[in-house]
Amino acid sequence: MKHWTTSSGYTIFRVLRFRSNAFLVTNGRNNLLVDSGTKRYRRQLLWSLAKLGVSHLDALILTHSHFDHAGNAHYIQNRFHTPVLIHSDEAGYLQNGQTPVPGGTMLLTRFLIRNFGNKVGSLMKFEPCEANQTFKTRLDLSKFGFKGYILPTPGHSQGSVSIVIDDDIVLAGDALFGVFPASVMPPYAQDKGLMIQSWKILLDTGAGSFFPAHGKPLTIKAIESCYNKNIRNITLNSQS
Ligand SMILES: [Zn+2]
Ligand SMILES: [Zn+2]
Repeated sequence: MKHWTTSSGYTIFRVLRFRSNAFLVTNGRNNLLVDSGTKRYRRQLLWSLAKLGVSHLDALILTHSHFDHAGNAHYIQNRFHTPVLIHSDEAGYLQNGQTPVPGGTMLLTRFLIRNFGNKVGSLMKFEPCEANQTFKTRLDLSKFGFKGYILPTPGHSQGSVSIVIDDDIVLAGDALFGVFPASVMPPYAQDKGLMIQSWKILLDTGAGSFFPAHGKPLTIKAIESCYNKNIRNITLNSQS
């Protein structure tokens, strides 16, 4: 299983890949699960946790309420008696098991949303889950045994957050995308401009590695060059 070690000796395991990534952050005693994947991949998630000998989870942190991240939240909450944490702007969607359809950030996805948005909406339903803790601003993770914090990085969705571990590794949810070769732009966003501003928030953390929930880890350089290109476009558009 792919894993990385931070400067304080925490290990981050990628416990789910395929449709979307989910990560386990562990210091050997405490375990945090970040995102939970879709119901379809529940068995793979459970298999990974069992293989690592994980029998308790101190928290499940959801980067946002889209079905490919929150799909197993209710199940994990019950099975492991785990508190579920989510930004307060996302808690209502989690409770309803449905996320509003985000806008497209590029020609193709704008076309898809315009023509098939309603259909997409019905495919994005998932098992509803009542959050145990919500937050609106930065949340420290020391009470869970980790040097780290949850950082609001809105734009992909209103309450999207990233998790900064050990000032070193960022689990960025869908604020960044690791699938396309020359861009970190996710194909969908509720507010593209806000999301681009969140990239600056991520760069300012001083972390060295950024793990999106889709695709491969990203370097500072990849995010910086995409940020510079897109922020220029926003400035030009606002001037014209
Ligand atoms: Zn998403
Ligand atoms: Zn996603």
